[in-house]
Amino acid sequence: MKGRFGKFGGRYVSEVLMHALIELEEAFEKFYPTDDFRQELDGLFRDYGGRPTPLYRAKKISELVGCKVYLKREDLLCGGSHKLNNSLGQALLAKRMGKTRLITETAAGQHGISAAMAANVVGLDVEVFMGVKDIERQASNVKRIKLLGAKVTPVETGMGVLKDAVSDTLREWATCTRDTHYLMGSTVGPHPFPEIVATFQSVIGKELKAQIMEMEGRLPDAVVACGSGGSNAVGAFRPFVSERDVRLYFVEGGGERLDADNSAAAFSLGKPGVLHGAAMQIMQDEHGQIKPSKTRAAGLNYPGRGPEISHLCDSGRVKPCHAFDKDVFEAVRVMSEKEGLIPALETAHAIAYVLNNGKEFERDEVVVINYSGRGDKDLETIVRYFYGD
Ligand SMILES: *Cc1c(COP(=O)(O)O)cnc(C)c1O
Repeated sequence: MKGRFGKFGGRYVSEVLMHALIELEEAFEKFYPTDDFRQELDGLFRDYGGRPTPLYRAKKISELVGCKVYLKREDLLCGGSHKLNNSLGQALLAKRMGKTRLITETAAGQHGISAAMAANVVGLDVEVFMGVKDIERQASNVKRIKLLGAKVTPVETGMGVLKDAVSDTLREWATCTRDTHYLMGSTVGPHPFPEIVATFQSVIGKELKAQIMEMEGRLPDAVVACGSGGSNAVGAFRPFVSERDVRLYFVEGGGERLDADNSAAAFSLGKPGVLHGAAMQIMQDEHGQIKPSKTRAAGLNYPGRGPEISHLCDSGRVKPCHAFDKDVFEAVRVMSEKEGLIPALETAHAIAYVLNNGKEFERDEVVVINYSGRGDKDLETIVRYFYGD
């Protein structure tokens, strides 16, 4: 069934949104397959975004781990992370649908920035909903979003964090679907969002597959990606899901420890449930209330795992794992000193998993880490961790 991934997914929304979701589903099915849409999107990916992003052989990390490690360099995409792939795709789709305005929500601000960039490229207005706590914590990204001309609307409901901003954006959308598109930031939300986001992000996996065939003459033995909603992971994994010999690893934010209140390891600690219109694996308390996590990687704090990654982990195709903070910061240090690359804290989770689990990878094995973003945005957190205030 469309929009279902095993027992996950679906469209659990109020009637007022049904029409907009069906309109969006039909528009995606109509426009996405056309040459006209593909050419325009590919052109933007290439000339504005800088695609294809390179696949880089990390020699020093390879020596440390004891296998061949490659990095898929999404940090080199314009904006510094994979998020623009999805934002450009949805902005273009909204334009084709005749919408004039985008609304979206953001936690760390990374998605807000990519949405504002894409809106400007395509020619749409944009409004970004952001929890008041996050506005405080992410002051420099709020400045970037404003500089790009987007309106930033503070969300004071609930705890003033990402899950509340998503709820408010869905509420706002219900009042203005005629001229407004909700630019969902990850592979979450009601159908068709998870499918649309995964489709636009799968440019990562398609390029990666061609590049590794060119460089190694064969498929990789493993692909490793960090995640929360799952968009960079699903984007990298999709072309390999049917290749049974390719092992896939999804690395969540472990926090300080699994029993610490900042752990975001939803596959170890959470349960299936419904959030923001879809069934998925969710961090929740014993009463079924959503439990927001507080890992230091702001981009890993969405409490749900999107339907597709939830299913891939549930069915055993993808191995869910997690990395703890101290190993994540160590991975930042190692990557910076050995390879000259400062990774985003989110990305450092995937790196930490590979660095700490060398025994899972044999000497001649080829392992690709999806290097989802660069660490400039995390500089203060990183410096504070190593050197104190
Ligand atoms: C937002 C973000 C993530 C997590 O989002 P997914 O949808 O799970 O990919 C990971 N890495 C970086 C650099 C991000 O900005």
